[in-house]
Amino acid sequence: MSANRRLRPNPPSDGSESADSGILNEGILFLIFQSIKWDLRTLCLTASVNRKLQAVAKRLLWRQMCLYRAPRTVAALASGAPNGRIGGGWDALAKLMFYCCGCQSTRHFKVGQTVAGHFVKTSRFSKTSGRSFLSKKSRGDMLYVSDPCEHRMGDMEDDLGVYRGIFQGFMRSRTRACLVRRKVDLEQLVKCPYCGARVWSMKTAKLIPKSAARRLGSHDGGLEYFVCVNGHMHGTCWLVSLSSDENDIEDDSEIDDDGAVRRIGHEDRTATNGSMSSAG
Ligand SMILES: [Zn+2]
Ligand SMILES: [Zn+2]
Repeated sequence: MSANRRLRPNPPSDGSESADSGILNEGILFLIFQSIKWDLRTLCLTASVNRKLQAVAKRLLWRQMCLYRAPRTVAALASGAPNGRIGGGWDALAKLMFYCCGCQSTRHFKVGQTVAGHFVKTSRFSKTSGRSFLSKKSRGDMLYVSDPCEHRMGDMEDDLGVYRGIFQGFMRSRTRACLVRRKVDLEQLVKCPYCGARVWSMKTAKLIPKSAARRLGSHDGGLEYFVCVNGHMHGTCWLVSLSSDENDIEDDSEIDDDGAVRRIGHEDRTATNGSMSSAG
């Protein structure tokens, strides 16, 4: 029967991928990945084998992995998108869920050394956290933001926090309308690390509210973030040392309704409470 035929492996000497070869059968691929719980590394490897598998991953597998890992948030994101299509694609969303993009110096945020991007084991994203990054007029927008991934920069320096997020329905958001209305220029040198599109600097746009620094546990002004034309957000901040400024942070803190906390263990860098979680 046809299912058996599709499952039959390719002859070992034949490196071709005919249309009915098992590995390209989407139904079989789906079942394989379901059985291994949409393992991220296997999916990355599969998508990098050749163009056909990359296309299948883009169209089907990344979406399913996102759905498996964060069903409610993905449903919310898709509901705010025309035809359920996520801005920048599902592969970009998957990368955003599992990859800290690191940091290099930008116009408004200088670092002594470049920090490489890396996979993260667990990340949780929070709508409540996202609200802190929206200017007053844009508070109606829906933005999910991760807690900062912490990077040690040296004994004499504050830790670096790297965070990321995504807007629901960015095309219709007030944030985008505001950026367009103010004719804020897109950055020349920075691209979105998740989809490769151009970005706005929210610092240049003067759209960073004070609540963002409080949320991150950063100095006022000690942060920058970018939003790409597809609604992905990525940013950096200097994290105030708890030992020296603990009381200041306490005074400034707001208790969030989803109970998110600011500072976390250095080893397991990204886990706090939130609305969207991804475990790899
Ligand atoms: Zn990181
Ligand atoms: Zn992007």
